[in-house]
Amino acid sequence: MSKEKRTEIGEIGEFGLIDRLAEKFAPANERTVKGIGDDTAVFDLGDKYLLTTSDMLLEGVHFDLSYMPLPHLGYKAVAVNVSDIAAMNGIPTQITVNLGLSNRFSVEAVEALYEGIKSACEEYNVDLVGGDTTSSSSGLVISVTALGEVERDKVAYRNGAMESDILCVTGDLGGAFVGLQVLEREKAEFMANPDMQPKLDSYDYVVGRQLKPRARMDIVHEFRDLGIQPTSMIDVSDGLASEAFHLCKQSGLGVAIYEDKLPIEKQSYETAAEFSIDPNSCALNGGEDYELLFTIGQDDFEKIKNHADIHTIGYMQASSKGRTFVTRSQNVVELQAQGWRHF
Ligand code: ADP
Ligand code: MG
Repeated sequence: MSKEKRTEIGEIGEFGLIDRLAEKFAPANERTVKGIGDDTAVFDLGDKYLLTTSDMLLEGVHFDLSYMPLPHLGYKAVAVNVSDIAAMNGIPTQITVNLGLSNRFSVEAVEALYEGIKSACEEYNVDLVGGDTTSSSSGLVISVTALGEVERDKVAYRNGAMESDILCVTGDLGGAFVGLQVLEREKAEFMANPDMQPKLDSYDYVVGRQLKPRARMDIVHEFRDLGIQPTSMIDVSDGLASEAFHLCKQSGLGVAIYEDKLPIEKQSYETAAEFSIDPNSCALNGGEDYELLFTIGQDDFEKIKNHADIHTIGYMQASSKGRTFVTRSQNVVELQAQGWRHF
C-alpha cells in the first residue's frame, strides 16, 4: 500500500487551507476583479461592481438550538452575509438560502426560521430569490449567499491600507463572545436542573449581541453621506486581532492598536470580569461582533472624529515595525491573534 502524505487541517488552519486551495485557482475570466481572499468576490459589470459572498452555519458548530431561537438564527444567517457586503463598502441586493434539514424539523420550525430571514430581508432591503433544500442526517445546516453592488470607485478591499492610515472600528467589541459564555452557562445550569428559569435579564445586551448581530449597513450609508472612502475594510467575524492581521497581511503593513482605545461596552466588561476572562481578550479575540474594521487616510480624520459610533483604535505602520499592542501603561507588546479555531 502506498503511503500518501496526510496533513491534518488543524496543522495549517482554516486560512492556511483556503490559501493552499486558492493558489490553484487564479481567475481567468476578465470580469473577475477579485477572487478568493476578501470579504466578497468582485465582478466587473461595467458601470458597477457586483459582489458575492457565502457563509454556512452548522448546528452544533455555529449555533445551538437549545438557546438560539429559530427566527434569530434566520436573521443572523442573513446578517453575517450582509456584513461581508458592507465590508466591501457595498449595498446588498439579493440572497439565496440553502437548507439541510433533518426530520427533527417541522414545517412550522422552518417557517419560524424564515420569519427571521424575512425580517433581515426587510431591514437590509434584500430580496430572497432562490436557494436549495435537502435532507440532512445531522441537524440543521443553513448556507446563505448574498449579492450586492458597489460603485467602482467606492469598493474597499482588505489590501488598500497605507502606512500611517488611521485604524477605526465601529460599535463595541467582545459582547458576542461574552454573550455566548452566558448562554452556555445557563444551558449547563438548565441541564443540571430543568426547573430553573434562565436568568438572562441582566445580560440582555451581550446575549443580544450573540443571538442577533446586526450588519453595519448604517455605517456604509454614512460613509457616502460624509464623503469618507475607507482605504481598506473587513468585518469582525473572527476577532479584532485576526481581522487586523488580514488588513496587515494583504496591505503589506504592520499595525499599532491601543488598549485604552478598545471600545468595550460596560455590560461586556462586567460580565467578562464575572467569568474571570480578560475583557481585552474578548475584544481582541472574541469574534462574531460583526462590526466594521477599516482604515482611513489622515485627511479623513476630521470627518469621523466626533462620530459617536466610530472609534479610532490605532494606526497602520511599516511592516518592519510589526503588529503591536500598546497597553494602558504604554508597554508595547506583540499583538496576538487567536481568532476562532474551527479545526
Ligand atoms: P469571511 O470571514 O469574511 O466570511 P472567510 O474567512 O470565510 O471570509 O473566507 C476568506 C476567503 O476565502 C473568501 O474570499 C472566501 O470566499 C474564500 N473561501 C472560503 N472557503 C472557501 C472554499 N471552501 N473554497 C473557495 N474559497 C473559499
Ligand atoms: Mg468578512
